Amino acid sequence: MKFIGVDLGGTTIKIGIVESGKLMASSKIIAQSSKSFVPRLDQIKHTVNQLLIDATMDKSELGGIGLAFPSIVDSKQKKIVTRYVKFVDADEIDLVEWANANWGIPLALENDARAALVGEWQYGAGRGQDDLVMITLGTGVGSAALIGGKILKGAHSLGGNVGGHMIINYEGDICNCGLRGCVESEASGWVLPSKFRNHPNIKNSLLAEVTTLNFKSIFELASQGDQVAIEIRDQCLKVWSVGVLNLVHAFDPELVIIGGGVMNSKDQIIPPIQKLLDQDSWLPQGVIRVVSAVHNEHAGILGAAYLAAQEG
Ligand SMILES: [Zn+2]
Repeated sequence: MKFIGVDLGGTTIKIGIVESGKLMASSKIIAQSSKSFVPRLDQIKHTVNQLLIDATMDKSELGGIGLAFPSIVDSKQKKIVTRYVKFVDADEIDLVEWANANWGIPLALENDARAALVGEWQYGAGRGQDDLVMITLGTGVGSAALIGGKILKGAHSLGGNVGGHMIINYEGDICNCGLRGCVESEASGWVLPSKFRNHPNIKNSLLAEVTTLNFKSIFELASQGDQVAIEIRDQCLKVWSVGVLNLVHAFDPELVIIGGGVMNSKDQIIPPIQKLLDQDSWLPQGVIRVVSAVHNEHAGILGAAYLAAQEG
């Protein structure tokens, strides 16, 4: 049996067909996450159908579809709980009915960081572990926790999910969530241009020449010795390290898995986070290990497909 996994990010929507934890076919579309979700759903439908045609699969081979959504999700009721900045009208759509009408299959709905955690737990860096924390670093910052072999959800589906909006700087900038000094508003993809474009020394940096200030250019130039890029990179790493430390103190995992778009530069990211944990956590040095996601691109798809398989 094959399962569709859809990972809805702030920038791209990744769509895959998965069989026994293996990605059989995949594609991407532009998220346009600031706009209505309705046209995106139509595009997802067409992309899935095209993948089936290209891979000469029939929809009768499909056992379910899993959606990994960038918001707070009630996976039991299959409802999006909070209206947030991405795909704002998605909470009005009956996604169960959408899946049933298109392919006659059940739907699993889960928060995107939780789906990525499930993907890594079942098929990646967290295999065989019962206590995990995952943090995803990209356009935004997501988090999820697995405790005693169960995904933490809490009383209102919020459990473990708001690591990106933990307040780490009480007097920091206003975040897109309305709070001040969140991990996300201190260091994430969406905040880079507004926060660092006016860095006092930017004129002395090659960053002044890049059209879009993003983590790719910051990590590349930092590795080449650009001082402003190093300063911005280290500031972000400090924010993420403190964020991870807080998650470790909250959830006490065996392993912290870090995923997301920035992990192409994992050699610059993992060591400083591990170092801060070793220095500052309440546990002895080396007890908590920080690792990169194995399926950095596709953990969300694999996890969403796994959760869809549990629906049958
Ligand atoms: Zn926030």
